[in-house]
Amino acid sequence: MDLALTPPLREFQDEVRTWLAEHLVGEFRRHRGVGFSFDDHAWDLRLAWDRELAAGRWLCIGWPEEYGGRGASVDEQLLFQLEYARADAPYRATSQGQDLFGPTLLAFGSPEQKRRFLPKITAVQELWGQGFSEPGSGSDLASLRTRALLDGDEWVIDGQKIWTSGGVYADWLYVLCRTNPAAPRHKGISMLLVPADQPGVDVRPIRNIMGTSEFCEIFFNGARTAADMVVGEVDGGWSVAMGALGTERGTTLLAEHLRFQHEIDEMTTAARETGQHRSAMMRAELAHAWALARIIEWNGRRLMSTLKHDDGNAAAQASISKVFASTTHRRIGELAMQAKGAASELVGADYDLDRLQQVLLASRAESIYGGTTQIQLNLLAERTLGLPREPRPKDGPA
Ligand SMILES: Cc1cc2nc3c(=O)[nH]c(=O)nc-3n(C[C@H](O)[C@H](O)[C@H](O)COP(=O)(O)OP(=O)(O)OC[C@H]3O[C@@H](n4cnc5c(N)ncnc54)[C@H](O)[C@@H]3O)c2cc1C
Repeated sequence: MDLALTPPLREFQDEVRTWLAEHLVGEFRRHRGVGFSFDDHAWDLRLAWDRELAAGRWLCIGWPEEYGGRGASVDEQLLFQLEYARADAPYRATSQGQDLFGPTLLAFGSPEQKRRFLPKITAVQELWGQGFSEPGSGSDLASLRTRALLDGDEWVIDGQKIWTSGGVYADWLYVLCRTNPAAPRHKGISMLLVPADQPGVDVRPIRNIMGTSEFCEIFFNGARTAADMVVGEVDGGWSVAMGALGTERGTTLLAEHLRFQHEIDEMTTAARETGQHRSAMMRAELAHAWALARIIEWNGRRLMSTLKHDDGNAAAQASISKVFASTTHRRIGELAMQAKGAASELVGADYDLDRLQQVLLASRAESIYGGTTQIQLNLLAERTLGLPREPRPKDGPA
């Protein structure tokens, strides 16, 4: 992508840098780089940071101003992401609403829904959780069984979701429900917006490998939401969900190489401290990790370019970026433990993991959420290489 900085873009970049330098201070600065997209380390501090960004109107800057955005251009959005990652600011606690649900609502929501929900996301007043996966319906999402029936002017929802990130903090859930069991699997699903705080919704945290409970199970027992809380058409939720997953697979990775670079820098420091840097193997691995971060950078730029020019290759490019970044991050996590040597096996009191230990553990999930590596490879094989489709469950009534 050609990101030659025109004078207005340079001015914008200066504005972002100045704001970050003035506001990423004190506790926020001490917590640079804290958290991951799917992690709730230092949650309260990250939430406070999101509110700081909101006060400066630096959340969702690509959204129209009427919803709290800045109507920023694609280049400005990319520049912001790059500067943000370069400053190593904390991961945003409310990324579910900002990066996943919000863009989906912008693309598919009604004008009333956009007016109702988007400003509360940019003001960090309402948090969102994604209720797609169910036990037995992850990769094969179209087999989902959570049902919604219209009862007067309300939907009544029964079923179970699992792995809902940020579910314990969510005020609202965007939930895929089967609204027409007689229709073919992909055609009887709707995306409903459901208030989380009600007697019919039971949220149960799941403890993860990092010792936190960022995701949860959610049980719906006669949960209710208003009849107009459907995004897109009733029974047309499949294409809405695919739009949401496309966002999850792609644009959230655009500045990832800079995150990786901070980790590689930290790992290089650790290798110097333990003397590992004298090993030829370690030096080669560190150089390789650096080169992989550069490839991720170019993958991100290629993806941005396909999005900007709408050339129809965005889905394939997003899959490539996701597979490459998640595989690389695992490798960085493992290498970081070698760089730390024996100290890598020690954790602080209360299972207090340091940043590199968090990378090792958190990166295990990156090849799973947002569509597993195997599913991305299937998509690339079929849609990009034109290989035969793998056998699918019969597309009859669900
Ligand atoms: C940290 C984390 C956060 C998450 N957050 C959310 C969330 O907020 N909301 C939400 O709805 N979900 C969330 N998920 C769930 C995630 O989307 C699913 O875990 C994922 O889609 C895989 O589904 P599954 O776990 O049921 O595994 P399965 O689909 O059962 O897959 C098991 C294994 O089989 C492989 N496999 C399956 N089908 C095929 C195939 N056709 N060809 C080849 N291999 C195949 C998979 O690649 C995988 O290795 C999260 C998951 C994690 C780890």
